[in-house]
Amino acid sequence: MKLYVGVDLGGTNIGAGIVDDKGNILLKGEVSTGASRPFQEIIADMAGLIKDLLKKGGYALSDIEAIGIGSPGSIDRERGVVVKANNLYWKDIPVKEELQKHLNIPVYIENDANVAGIAESVAGVCKGFENSVTITLGTGVGSGIIIDGKPYTGSHGVAAELGHMIIVVDGIQCNCGNRGCFEEYASASALIRDGKSAAKENPDSLIYKEVDGDLDKIDARIVIDAAKAGDEIALNIFDSYIHYLTVGIINIINLLDPSVIAISGGVSRAGDFLLDAIRESVSKHIFYKDAGSANIYLSELGNDAGIIGAAMLARAD
Ligand SMILES: [Zn+2]
Repeated sequence: MKLYVGVDLGGTNIGAGIVDDKGNILLKGEVSTGASRPFQEIIADMAGLIKDLLKKGGYALSDIEAIGIGSPGSIDRERGVVVKANNLYWKDIPVKEELQKHLNIPVYIENDANVAGIAESVAGVCKGFENSVTITLGTGVGSGIIIDGKPYTGSHGVAAELGHMIIVVDGIQCNCGNRGCFEEYASASALIRDGKSAAKENPDSLIYKEVDGDLDKIDARIVIDAAKAGDEIALNIFDSYIHYLTVGIINIINLLDPSVIAISGGVSRAGDFLLDAIRESVSKHIFYKDAGSANIYLSELGNDAGIIGAAMLARAD
């Protein structure tokens, strides 16, 4: 059996796992990133975590085909370099070269949103489909496009940034410099922003009551739970959220016509309440109604997607 190591490199934690060629995690662990430290120290800790896992599982380095790393930011896949990752304070960091000083086997690196798409395609709800799109609804909106079973990374290596697809001309300012990007309307941050401003204006709302007026405690779950409970203010926010999410999903369907769209990230934990609303809304806006259209599912991999997808990078190559 071929084995791989998958590394989920985040701004807060580094997760790693030993994964079989079907995408099953056999063993996993985690260390904190300590992102403000020199990159050599962070990568030494990453190598230490992998060595610990090998030891725990009784594996030799020669049992492992390759290490795959999912990293935030833009990636030079050929050189194994993280070109820029804001939440790690990284610019032109030679991750592959540095990690191979500790573990001399093949190393692959890919953007974390693409990695999530690979994970869904190999071991998640997009398994068995050649063309799929995974949208991660978290602090921002990440996306991974899989075409003919392979991640689509574009001509300049920066695809797919569906979170910065403009869905409202001259809309809300995005930190990418443009206005009206999908993630300004469809991320967990959008729900929090709208939840805060609505609670401030409506102290009678369930959102306000849930946090005892401490608006900084509002998160996406509180807003969605209040909508589930039938609170009118929260339902207005939720309906508007679904509206904008639908606009983005319809754009994706009209552009790519994938077999499956997987919804992952923190917001996807809202479950069927979210999924039913998305499906109903999207179905109203499908252009080629008779031809059939993408099935929309919620991701079931949760936090493991980062490790699984990274481990499958060598397989996808
Ligand atoms: Zn943007």
